[in-house]
Formats: sequence, structure tokens, C-alpha cells
Amino acid sequence: MSVSSQLQSINSELKTTKTKLIAVSKTKPNDLILEAYEVGQRAFGENKVQELVDKQAVLPKDIEWHMIGHLQRNKVKYIAPFVHLIHGVDTLKLLKEINKEGRKNERVISCLLQVHIADESTKFGFSSTEIKEILASNTLDELEYVSIVGLMGMATHTDNETQVRTEFASLSVLFNELKTSYTHLRLNLTEISMGMSGDYKIAVEEGSTMVRIGSTIFGARNYTK
Ligand SMILES: *Cc1c(COP(=O)(O)O)cnc(C)c1O
Repeated sequence: MSVSSQLQSINSELKTTKTKLIAVSKTKPNDLILEAYEVGQRAFGENKVQELVDKQAVLPKDIEWHMIGHLQRNKVKYIAPFVHLIHGVDTLKLLKEINKEGRKNERVISCLLQVHIADESTKFGFSSTEIKEILASNTLDELEYVSIVGLMGMATHTDNETQVRTEFASLSVLFNELKTSYTHLRLNLTEISMGMSGDYKIAVEEGSTMVRIGSTIFGARNYTK
């Protein structure tokens, strides 16, 4: 199946929902990204800073670049001038660094707080308690160059659909709770980023507003390391 036909079929599935498709192009060459671009795809996700920077430099300027992977603080400066949305903010230190680089670039950077919803200890993210502590404190007051636009989560890698659904549902519940309980200038909660190739249908049913899909669109990735 070609990139364009895969995109077409996912987009028709998402048509009746409010969910936006982020095409995850990590490890994939620019010609495949352009193939998606030609049929109208504008939002792309990458998980490595160097690769993101290299691709942004040469690809069309109206592409929205989403940083979806774990982000190291010392690398924020490379993406701060152009990144559209940082999905995986998992520490307060990282949020502060993003604020610092936003200030340098005179742009407010949109972020999602990553929540640890999976069973696996390897996945990054805040607990719901940690997020509430941050929102209840005055930490956000000084972070003038970040806008927290929502939450991001990754479900456990398992065939157990019930478990995946429960984990996604927990992210939706937290999102709604935060939305009703906290107000702050830096808090503009509209997005729940959840769902990848293997589980996006469940995520959409549980309220996802952004699915991050890679291999279903571009084919399996070959990692050489
Ligand atoms: C790679 C990746 C995806 C996409 O994974 P696929 O299974 O290829 O759809 C989504 N989210 C994150 C954070 C990723 O690193």
C-alpha cells in the first residue's frame, strides 16, 4: 500500500471524529514525507532532535513539526525556533527549559504534559498526582513562554484491548478533571494525544484528539542500531 492510500484510509476513518492525524515520519526519508505532503498532510512527528532539525531545514516551511519523543533539556534550543508542539514534557525542569528557549526565540511554545498511564516502568511521564501538584502550585506563573495545551499518554504494549482501553480512558478522565478544576493563563487544555498504529482506534473511541501514526502510513521501521 502506498503512503497516499494509507493516509486516505486513515483520514476517512477519522473524518467523523475530532481527531487530528500526526504522521510519524521518524527514520523515514524525505521523499516519503513529501509523498504525504503532496496529498495534503501537514502535521509530522519525529522523536529525535537531530533528525527533526535536519528535516525541517529542507522540507516545506508550512509543515507543522511535532516533537513526540523523549526530549533532553540540552536539546530544546535546537527545536525551539520552529517546533509546533512538544508532546512529551515529562519533568518540570524540561518545562522550565522550554520556557527559557521560548523567551529567547520570542515565541510561546505549546506543550503537552506526558502522563504515565501504562503498566510498564520504562515509559516516561508524570503521575496524575504530580500534575495536580504542579497546577495547584504557582509554578506556572513565571512560565510565560509555554502554553500547556493538553496531555499525552502511551498505553501498555499489549494485545489486551481492555487494558489499553482502560489506560486511555484514565487519561481522558484526568484531562476532564483538570479542565474543570484548574484555570491558569498557561493552561489551555484542548488536546489529548493518544493512539499509535496498533491502538489508535481504541484511543479515538476514548476521546483522543491527536493520534500519532507511523508504521501504518510509512511501513515498518528498520532500526540499524
Ligand atoms: C514511534 C512513535 C509513534 C508511532 O508509532 P507507530 O507504531 O509506528 O504508529 C507514536 N508515538 C511515539 C511517542 C512514538 O515514538
